[in-house]
Amino acid sequence: MPAFSLEPEQHAWRAELRTLAAQRLRPLADKGEPGHVNRPLLAELGRLGLLARLFASGALELCLMRESLAQACTEAETALALQGLGAHPVHAHGSPAQKERWLPGVAEGGAVAAFALSEPGAGSDAAALALAAEPDGAGWRLTGEKCWISNAPEADFYTVFARTTPGAGARGVTAFLVPADRPGLTGSALQMLSPHPIGALRFDAVPVTAADVLGEADRGFAVAMGTLNLFRPSVGAFAVGMAQAALDATLDHTGRREAFGGRLKDLQTVSHQVAEMALRTEAARLMVYAAATAYDRGAADVPGRAAMAKLLATEAAQYVVDTAVQLHGARALRRGHLLEHLYREVRAPRIYEGASEVQRGIIAKELYARTHHQEAP
Ligand SMILES: Cc1cc2nc3c(=O)[nH]c(=O)nc-3n(C[C@H](O)[C@H](O)[C@H](O)COP(=O)(O)OP(=O)(O)OC[C@H]3O[C@@H](n4cnc5c(N)ncnc54)[C@H](O)[C@@H]3O)c2cc1C
Repeated sequence: MPAFSLEPEQHAWRAELRTLAAQRLRPLADKGEPGHVNRPLLAELGRLGLLARLFASGALELCLMRESLAQACTEAETALALQGLGAHPVHAHGSPAQKERWLPGVAEGGAVAAFALSEPGAGSDAAALALAAEPDGAGWRLTGEKCWISNAPEADFYTVFARTTPGAGARGVTAFLVPADRPGLTGSALQMLSPHPIGALRFDAVPVTAADVLGEADRGFAVAMGTLNLFRPSVGAFAVGMAQAALDATLDHTGRREAFGGRLKDLQTVSHQVAEMALRTEAARLMVYAAATAYDRGAADVPGRAAMAKLLATEAAQYVVDTAVQLHGARALRRGHLLEHLYREVRAPRIYEGASEVQRGIIAKELYARTHHQEAP
């Protein structure tokens, strides 16, 4: 069986999710305030049981959820994904006490999670992160900054990656679960092109103890990378959902719009562009499903496949949404139009969770690692 074939129940589930997104989630998203966490929307995602499925299921299910929700409601898609990104380290590495304290709230949509890795001086080069965890009695004090953190500063807890061993690069990083109400933790919102909430965090000697560590001290980089290996194909799935929404809107529009005595679809340059949009969307979808399936089977080539899926899908979605805007003309750029929204949404995924260039680096590294070179004479 090819890695990418879906079962009939999975096809049915996708259709059900699209309907739920359009009927139950879209109205709540419309009432939300741009740039702020939409708690009623999260609570509905919890009531529908979708947040609980983040951890009960595998990478392919995560991708099917993200793709299907994105087709009808990107706000719900992103709210779900951010709960997963912020809480996955707790699910995978948390102590029983940490899990008990936070995961039920995450699944209900009452406890908002965030993943705080990036800093002003450490983005793509995450191993250069400098937020200091300095020993203090039995624990540490966190001092420094995080920025571009989705859901900050409104999240209820943060998975924070901090430097416990100076000068040790990726080997000196520890993951901490930091509740938002810890003394010394403050934050501010950042106005971004991307519609979901994003902010910066300031740590001013924030106290943490061994009970706040996720996994082991100095082993936090693996926590971050493990989370990203799971989430990267699903960023691709988000992109595929957006591309499909743009394609559907374009099929509808070009099939109706009258110009030059016919419909836009009758112009071959138009119909061939639509064919190209569909081609790239489907290719991206298959690669996303294959990467997610490889993750679920514990395949050895997950990092390379995850990188390929994220890279191909986010670049394809940018092309598809941009072409959709072109084929719609002015109406697509009107504030509130689906494509105006998608045009803003589609840009950031080529940068976050590893920019496209970083994905190419991962792919190349994996390729050469599997190639046995003969030493030059
Ligand atoms: C909407 C949005 C949401 C985000 N949410 C989060 C979040 O929740 N948590 C979090 O921790 N971070 C988050 N980020 C931050 C994101 O992870 C970083 O922006 C990303 O890692 C890139 O880092 P940077 O922006 O500092 O760019 P830089 O690292 O400065 O890179 C800039 C550019 O340089 C090029 N480049 C960099 N490295 C290489 C390379 N090795 N080879 C070739 N070219 C390269 C690429 O073109 C890259 O885009 C978010 C960002 C955005 C835009």
